[in-house]
Amino acid sequence: MGPMDGDALVAEALSAALLAMEEQFVSEAVAGLADAVELQRQATALGDESLVMRARLCRARMGLRTGELTGVAREMYDVQRWAAERGDRLLEARAHAACASVHQYSGDAAKRLEHSLSAVELLDETATVFTQIWHRVRLADALAETGAIDAARLRYRQAEDLARKTQQWELLRILLNNWAYYEHDCGDLAGAGEVIGRMLQHADVHGLELDPPTLHTVGEVQAANGEYAAAEQAMLTCIARYEAGFVEHVADVASYRLTLARARRGLGDVVGAQQSLDACREVCVELGLHAILVQVHEEQADLHAARGEFAEAFAIHKTFVAAQKSLQSREREAQAQARQAMFETSEAREEAERFREQARRDPLTGLRNRRYVDEELPALIAGDSGLSLAIADIDYFKRINDTLSHDTGDQVLVQVAKLLEDGLAAAAPGGFVARLGGEEFLLVLPATPVPSATTTLDGIRQAIETHDWHDITGALPVTVSIGVAATGEVSPPTQSATLGVADRNLYAAKRAGRNRVVAGAPRERLPRAYRDRDVA
Ligand code: GH3
Ligand code: MG
Ligand code: MG
Repeated sequence: MGPMDGDALVAEALSAALLAMEEQFVSEAVAGLADAVELQRQATALGDESLVMRARLCRARMGLRTGELTGVAREMYDVQRWAAERGDRLLEARAHAACASVHQYSGDAAKRLEHSLSAVELLDETATVFTQIWHRVRLADALAETGAIDAARLRYRQAEDLARKTQQWELLRILLNNWAYYEHDCGDLAGAGEVIGRMLQHADVHGLELDPPTLHTVGEVQAANGEYAAAEQAMLTCIARYEAGFVEHVADVASYRLTLARARRGLGDVVGAQQSLDACREVCVELGLHAILVQVHEEQADLHAARGEFAEAFAIHKTFVAAQKSLQSREREAQAQARQAMFETSEAREEAERFREQARRDPLTGLRNRRYVDEELPALIAGDSGLSLAIADIDYFKRINDTLSHDTGDQVLVQVAKLLEDGLAAAAPGGFVARLGGEEFLLVLPATPVPSATTTLDGIRQAIETHDWHDITGALPVTVSIGVAATGEVSPPTQSATLGVADRNLYAAKRAGRNRVVAGAPRERLPRAYRDRDVA
């Protein structure tokens, strides 16, 4: 083997394959999905988490394009969160861009915009040229979609500058196509025409062949601007190229034929226009393309009018209006379903999160429980050499239960818990109180040396002693004994060793008469002079 071992070579090849999927326009989504699944399998076999995450995002993006919605949104959010935690800004940006696409499909313009913005904001100088350009284009698209065409133009212009500077000719073609489409969509026909002109010139200079969707934008804009002959030419080329091998996008041909019909009507060729419109209608009916069918009715009405058949034009116009209304409710329904699908996912997550949270709390006092302690404390101890902790135990608690009632005992537990939490919150931010069981509590004080921990804890002890217990226990006093320990005092500074010292100190506090705080290192580990330094 050379300088790199086998795994490193596989990882490099995988990374390159993923980059190709991340930064090239995969035209066949079904094949792309199969490729992404395979890359994810390889990344998992390799055990490289970062590659797995990239593959998961690719898989989700391809899944979205093949019509999945529920699972893919969750995948994208997972990858986004993982990347955010790792500080992987590029992957996080890509995940946001993918989320924006999900919301584009579900029709949530605000969410789409939010994610599109994050996808740009996260880019720094280490981002790839592709993402620098493409994420700006997608942000511009999202802005234009909400009618903010000026803000969109700003981003399109930035993207265009960058694309020219870095000679990303294919990206430049695509961005000019999107730009023209949205200028047209926002009703600025002159602006759309101008962008189309630049795109055609750019394609000419660099010998780029325009694909059918781009030619369609060209034809649409030209027809809208009254350039019917040019529009007809663009659409004939468009349809020819489509038939020569663009057949995966089978629904698109209907809209191509519709635009061709419009151009021909503009040229006065009503026969040619009708032929193209009939061909379009056939595809719409066969594939159930309701949105385009609505436009077919509209064009048919215009064609009747162009032939002077005004009664027919009026009748078809009524069909058009009815179809448009039904389409709107159909679209709203589809969007609501898509939102519901995504919402259900996030709701399930929240519920799981709530459940997880509940399982880590004590139901009586609402404090953290032992399970939480076992999960969180080791990391706190490992990351903080100056951590102190304490065990507090209620004095003569059995007497409260026995002379009053178990229910009274519960009320005392709840009130003590509250006093412990209040006392700790003020003095030890980032710390917590847990109920270890019975009438025994753990207090965790991060970055607090023993002397100040002892002061804080003695304040809490006093607050409990002086609390007005009369309403709960009558004449019976309520006090606690507290044993303190610091991780710095025990070696190794493990959870069990530190808790052991705190427990020993608690026992010492009980023996010394209760209602007191005892701190101090284990005697056998310290020189003689330091013995009996326990605080009473
Ligand atoms: P000491 O001062 O030595 O700590 O005496 P103590 O009476 O507090 O200690 P002991 O451990 O003998 O008694 C603890 C009692 O706490 C026994 C048990 O019945 C009671 N207990 C444990 N859990 C609960 C609870 O959830 N609610 C109530 N009311 N009592 C509980
Ligand atoms: Mg007790
Ligand atoms: Mg006890």
